Amino acid sequence: MSKDPIHIVGGGLAGSEAAWQAAQAGVPVILHEMRPVRGTDAHKTQDLAELVCSNSFRSDDAEANAVGLLHAEMRLANSLIMAAGDANQVPAGGALAVDRDGFSAAVTARVEAHPLITIQREEVTGLPPAEWSQVIVATGPLTAPSLAEAIATETGADALAFFDAIAPIVHFDTIDMNVAWFQSRYDKVGPGGTGKDYINCPMDKAQYDAFVQALIEGGKTEFKQWEGTPYFDGCLPIEVMAERGVETLRHGPMKPIGLTNAHNPTVKAYAVVQLRQDNALGTLYNMVGFQTKLKHGEQVRIFKTIPGLENAEFARLGGLHRNTYINSPTLLDGSLQLKSRPGLRFAGQITGCEGYVESAAIGLLAGRFAAAERLGAPISLPPATTAFGALLNHITGGHITSDDEPGKRSFQPMNVNFGLFPPLEAGTKLRPDGFEGRFRGKDKSIAKKKATTTRALADCRAWLDLPAQAQTQAAE
Ligand SMILES: Cc1cc2nc3c(=O)[nH]c(=O)nc-3n(C[C@H](O)[C@H](O)[C@H](O)COP(=O)(O)OP(=O)(O)OC[C@H]3O[C@@H](n4cnc5c(N)ncnc54)[C@H](O)[C@@H]3O)c2cc1C
Repeated sequence: MSKDPIHIVGGGLAGSEAAWQAAQAGVPVILHEMRPVRGTDAHKTQDLAELVCSNSFRSDDAEANAVGLLHAEMRLANSLIMAAGDANQVPAGGALAVDRDGFSAAVTARVEAHPLITIQREEVTGLPPAEWSQVIVATGPLTAPSLAEAIATETGADALAFFDAIAPIVHFDTIDMNVAWFQSRYDKVGPGGTGKDYINCPMDKAQYDAFVQALIEGGKTEFKQWEGTPYFDGCLPIEVMAERGVETLRHGPMKPIGLTNAHNPTVKAYAVVQLRQDNALGTLYNMVGFQTKLKHGEQVRIFKTIPGLENAEFARLGGLHRNTYINSPTLLDGSLQLKSRPGLRFAGQITGCEGYVESAAIGLLAGRFAAAERLGAPISLPPATTAFGALLNHITGGHITSDDEPGKRSFQPMNVNFGLFPPLEAGTKLRPDGFEGRFRGKDKSIAKKKATTTRALADCRAWLDLPAQAQTQAAE
């Protein structure tokens, strides 16, 4: 058994979690993080696990939501990211949202204090040297160009980079609360929420139509070198949605359902812009779903036409950024190891998962796999029925190659979702309480999700060797 360190490149969501898991297993880790020596287009601090856009880990519902289930599995596996997230929660209805600075500071402090982790603030400019026998590359969507080039050369990839966009943040005290009001959709309270966690700005039909037109006509940032690269459907810029049809936004981020204007309860808003608390102090709010590549001046002009935001001041405007990911199903084995270079693993968004939580989850798995290998123990893969397993299988296999569209990459980044889970076994009881009747429609869909998450948590506990009745618990 060797106690040579595992080298982890990138101290983001995935790298920090991987370092924590490996160190907790008793293996020394050297974590190479390039900030503040070299920055990225989106990171603003030198903290580990910085959240570069939204402050939300999305739904915390472990019964009926796939990312909520992933939260629960990560808590069972003593995730550092979930422990820091839980400790720095801000109200967000049914979602788990965090104070971004408090969250990253907590992760940084825990990693710095771990006796088996050494942090080296330096850029790794090429593929790791041969003497690093165990490596995890977790350099994320903004992987520094020299390393990205080295990876492209090693993997023979023709393209590694794609478009993505971020949403603006507004100072709370510049929002007109005589026009806007606090309310969560359907007054949903959720864990840590109050039912009044979002700020809502109402629009009538004329205002909405003019707004959509302004988005379409507004000046956009040109990024010629990236022309032709695709967007992720889950993070479309607001103006791209507007171009898809006048109703698209009203059925997407600007949907008015489940909301009643507190200032004018008898008149239903035609469309609503929602803002979500972004820091613990409640001084900043981000515009939900308003990622954009409009020019900064155009964003200020157009977003100030939103009722309630006429005098808004922006703490950050939206922008375009690069995303970098490898063709994992072809390149990686089942334990995230590069087939052409055993001992070199990838983790986080660069593997082609999407989102903070998913990236951290893949970091968690990579850290455990690398530690097991270093300790001479067998690598135990999570069952496909768990959220861990479903996500891992999406990354390392299980996608369909399209022969119809040669040149088009069939593997696309994806959030965890129920479509990635194997179907329930025939005969699974959807109502364990003995109910004999048949579920239909929405009730059936909810019951199936519950059966899927119940199965997942039981299988996850077995995989982690936890007692069947163990309580969900974050890292101490
Ligand atoms: C602008 C932007 C907005 C996003 N918005 C959201 C969102 O709202 N919600 C969401 O869930 N996800 C969002 N994402 C995706 C989000 O980045 C990922 O989900 C998550 O941060 C990825 O985690 P990671 O650990 O893989 O990468 P990161 O968290 O980016 O960490 C990678 C780390 O590697 C370091 N690094 C890079 N290259 C090198 C090198 N050569 N040597 C040493 N260190 C290096 C970087 O400095 C960074 O600290 C966004 C991404 C971007 C870029």
